[in-house]
This record gives sequence, C-alpha cells and structure tokens, in this order.
Amino acid sequence: MKHLELTSLQIKEKILSKEIQAVDVIKHLFEWIKETEPNVQAYITTTEEESLRKAEEIDKKVKNNERVGLLAGIPIAIKDNICTKNLLTTCASQILKNFIPPYDAFVINRLKEEDAIIIGKTNLDEFAMGSSTENSSYKETRNPWDLERVPGGSSGGSAAAVASNLAFMALGSETGGSIRQPAAMCGVVGVKPTYGRVSRYGLIAFGSSLDQIGTLTKDIKDAAVLLQVISGHDACDSTSAPVPVPDYLHGIDSGINGLKIGIPKEYFADGLNTDIQKAIKDALGIYEKLGAEIIDISLPHTEYAVATYYLVATAEASSNLARYDGVRYGLRAGSEGGIVSMYCRTRSEGFGNEVKRRVMLGNYALSAGYYDAYYLKASKVRTLIKNDFDAAFEKVDCIICPTSPVPAFKIGERTNNPLEMYLTDVYTIPANLAGIPGISIPCGFSREGLPIGMQILGRYFEEKRLLQIAHTFEAETNFHLKTPPLKDPRWCRG
Ligand code: GLN
Repeated sequence: MKHLELTSLQIKEKILSKEIQAVDVIKHLFEWIKETEPNVQAYITTTEEESLRKAEEIDKKVKNNERVGLLAGIPIAIKDNICTKNLLTTCASQILKNFIPPYDAFVINRLKEEDAIIIGKTNLDEFAMGSSTENSSYKETRNPWDLERVPGGSSGGSAAAVASNLAFMALGSETGGSIRQPAAMCGVVGVKPTYGRVSRYGLIAFGSSLDQIGTLTKDIKDAAVLLQVISGHDACDSTSAPVPVPDYLHGIDSGINGLKIGIPKEYFADGLNTDIQKAIKDALGIYEKLGAEIIDISLPHTEYAVATYYLVATAEASSNLARYDGVRYGLRAGSEGGIVSMYCRTRSEGFGNEVKRRVMLGNYALSAGYYDAYYLKASKVRTLIKNDFDAAFEKVDCIICPTSPVPAFKIGERTNNPLEMYLTDVYTIPANLAGIPGISIPCGFSREGLPIGMQILGRYFEEKRLLQIAHTFEAETNFHLKTPPLKDPRWCRG
C-alpha cells in the first residue's frame, strides 16, 4: 500500500525502473478504493478490470524496453463530464444516466496515447453547476479532511480522489472556478488553463465561452506533466488556440527573482475568512524573501463578476442544455400526451433543481426584451473585467489572492441559499470571464485543520510561468505533503 502516497512522477519512475509493476499499483489502489471510497464517495464509476488490463500492457512494454508514454502507468481519474468511449459518462445527471459516449474527448485520447490508466469517473455537481458537489444526482462526495464537509465543486470528486490517494492525478473542468475552488478546499493543486489552451472537444458543454478542462494533482510537477499532455491545438474545437505548447517541466525550478506580484485590494475585502487572509499574507512574506516584489493593484470591476458570470453562464447553459429533449440521446420519458408533453416530462424528470434554475435564468436573460438589459450588458461588463486584468498585467507579472473566501463548509450548510453558494466563487470567476490561466496551491491550514488554497493568476498562455511561481513556493513549504487524517500516517509523503 505504501506506494499510493507517491506523486504521479514518482510512481512512474518506479514503474519504469521495474521497482514496482503497474499491475501492483492498480491492485493496491483498488484495495484502497474499496476501503476508503465508501467514506469519501469520489467516484461515480470505476474501471478495475480495464485498468488491470491496461497495466499489464504497460508492464509488458517496460519489460520489453519498448517506448512508453509520458504518463506510463499513472492511474488517473476523470471528471464525469468528459466523454470516455464505451465508458459511462453521466455528468452526475439522471438525464445522462445511461449515456455511453461513442467517442473519446480530445484530452482522453491524449491520455491514452501517453499510457495513462483511466481508473474511473468522478462525481461532480450535475452538469458542473455548483460549488460543493452536493448538486450531484448520484452521491454526496465528502471532504477527506473532514467527512462532514463538502469537497468544494464542481470537480469535487476529482479533488477528493487526489487528496485521499484514490487517484494519482485527475482531470476536472472549470466554468467559474470548479477546479481551483475544490483544489483549495481539498489541499491539492488545481490548474485552470487559458481559455483555448486545452481542447473542449468531448467536454459536455455548460457555458462554452467559459468552459475549460484542467488538472488536479498532488504537486506542481505532476500538474506540469499532465498539462503538457492535454494542451495543444485541436481542429475539433473551434476555440482551441494554435499556440505552441512549451515544455512545462523544463526550468520549473528556475526561481522567481525579480518577480512582480500584484495584490488586488478587492480580493481582500469583507467576507474573507481571517485564517485564509493570514495564510496568504504569510505566503507573500515567503515570496518576498525569495526576491519577489509585492505591488498593490486594483481590479475595479471585481464586484460585478459574480452577477456577470451568472448571466453569461446561465444564458449559455440554457442554450447548451436544449439538446437534452428525449429525442437525440439521453433519458426519454414515455410518449403519452404527445411530443410536447414528452419533452416536458423528460426534462422535468431528468434535470435536478439547480440545473432547472439555471436553464430558467438563462432563457430569461436571453429572451426578447430582456436580452439588451441582461445578456448584452453582462457581455460588456465582461470586457471591462478582462480590461482590468490587461491593465494589471502591464504592471505586474502575476496576481496572488485567495482561491476561496472560506475553507470547506459543512454538508448542507449552503444548499438552501443559492446566492451564498454562488458567492464562494467570487475570487475564481473573474479569471474565467477574462479567460486567463490560474492555479490554486496549498498554502496553509485553518484553525480547524482545513486546507487553504492560494491562487496565482497570470497572463494569457503563461501557464509555464505560473507553474514556476507555484513551484518556487512549493519547494519552500510542506503544505502539499500533509495528508488528510483518513490516510494511514505511514503513507505520508516527504
Ligand atoms: N460554481 C460555479 C457554478 O456553479 C462554477 C462551476 C464551474 O466552474 N463549473 O456555476
């Protein structure tokens, strides 16, 4: 069992040097999954047999000294809104409860080409709409640091799986913070790439101008290698950018001397938990000691971000989700009462409350007479938010702020108050609206022992710089090495 705590790159090295077989890693992992998954509930589907088969294939390649991929033998979990050929992809919705995609998403193809082992599909808020994974229509994922708390969301299953060693790495997706926020709440590393960096082909659409696939990992180097594999141009996604992908690992430890870090005053306003505030302040002290310059900046339109997001995202969602009508694919209610009644019942039965709320809000914002007042206005404010970042990045190289205003909250605490739930994304949403990259890394613990995440935002396509900046902090600290109490202490990394 003792290998499960290793990072992805460490386990890969052991597999390649034949110190351990990929098959044994998978066997140990599934033993641990059987023991721990009933508590954490990170997965909707697991693929033990297929994983063992794939592991055998990799062991054989290693034995024969054949070329293996960059992710050889690494067990990876996939958020269940990313299409996997012949493997159930539910989006945590009843409307897709039997959906088996006939194709692989672009990122899945890349993982397979690089010999990763897909061990399962993780839980999420239905259609990625939520901040706590409580909107899943399948199960309630728990935070491994405190099983009475949420893991964050919507990629809560992926974050909880990585935090509790139920996967070595995972893919998640973001529309408004769904990788960074659960990463912060579970104490792992989460990367949201620049919009266009990673193909959305095969990602089940929520808000297409915001959606982006990204990574959840135990440390920065793992994030670098996983991002390397999934990045790059794809002709199947018209918004995929034909921008060359640098080698993210190369020079990752080259330091931050002379780095200009911007601290936006709007991100340290009322409502920020004091433990988080202190952890970020301490982290900035470390950066300063390492040679960075801290510069106060302002992102003046921040206060409009949440409202803007909930217009843009819901408008796009209402249009994207129109396809679930019982005719093309997915759930279909009985046909009594005619076709209109069938459409209505399919959608009433198939969608949960939050999804219905978003579809209604979105249709309203797009409807004749309201379009100019809501959607069009939101699009304009979105540009102002983007301009804020452009102006800031003329003065600074990156921006550091909290990822979430609060640590993981109790299950059920915010479910009856959608607005309060929406506000947990106040620090992550602006980056999605602007399309810039962001990373959340562990930077401390609250007095209750819950992980705290620090967010680093950068210029378009400067993921490499962000990873360097994050790595410099990680190398100086050991927050990423701490493990949740449900782990056997003998397994601690470091
Ligand atoms: N929590 C936000 C929402 O509910 C963001 C979700 C996401 O990034 N997928 O829309």
